[in-house]
Amino acid sequence: MRIDILTLFPEMCETVMSESIIGRARAANKVEIVCTNIRDFAGNKHNKVDDSPYGGGMGMIMAADPIYNCYKSLYNESEPKPHLIYLSPKGKTFNQAKAIELSKLDRVVLLCGHYEGIDQRVIDEIVDEEISIGDFVLTGGELPALTVADAVCRMLPGVLSEDICFEEESHFDGLLEYPQYTRPAVWKQQAVPEVLLSGNHANINQWRRAKAIEITLERRPDLLKKSDLSEKDLKLLEKNR
Ligand code: SAM
Repeated sequence: MRIDILTLFPEMCETVMSESIIGRARAANKVEIVCTNIRDFAGNKHNKVDDSPYGGGMGMIMAADPIYNCYKSLYNESEPKPHLIYLSPKGKTFNQAKAIELSKLDRVVLLCGHYEGIDQRVIDEIVDEEISIGDFVLTGGELPALTVADAVCRMLPGVLSEDICFEEESHFDGLLEYPQYTRPAVWKQQAVPEVLLSGNHANINQWRRAKAIEITLERRPDLLKKSDLSEKDLKLLEKNR
């Protein structure tokens, strides 16, 4: 898969996407990530990419041409149009299901806005969907684009050491993850739940499922209604309370 990030701050994106698991996945060619500077397509001698809003008002608006030309430079007309996402607080809220959906595409382009946003006409011309990372406003689309890129990359085959890593974690199957522990077995007089030391994998799996259900019902009842649970799940929940 290839992910393009169109941004005024390519170094910021490059730095984050070069570290840790994603950095290693790039080095091993599991994913290609290309950060392109929209300013390189300003087309004027001062490299200006923004202007004041028509109708007046606060701040500056990113102009259509630099974004359009930057996007057009990334692929040939003979190739299929890559899926273009504009990161925007007006978009649909990002979630794990969207990360999985995007990870199945060959190519995704993430467009980062800045200042007060971008000219609506270029959105209408090239954007396929708008994604928000939450109901708050950031100064730019870089952190949202990096968030989306990270969540998508870790769904790609071979990026995590074992696929089971994400199949068991929060949001993959509509549940939040059970609590996790590592050595030592007792820390500040708090012992790890005994079942996890038992070596009995059937009991461990049951305990983990019960805890995942309990935590989801307690913290995010919107993800799971008690009525969605099977008889077996309800019994597990009772047994492990
Ligand atoms: N004036 C815009 C509005 O009220 O909707 C906000 C512009 S914001 C200051 C600048 C850029 O940051 C946006 O163009 C967008 O790319 C990005 N951005 C800010 N908050 C975001 C969020 N919650 N999700 C995704 N992108 C966001």
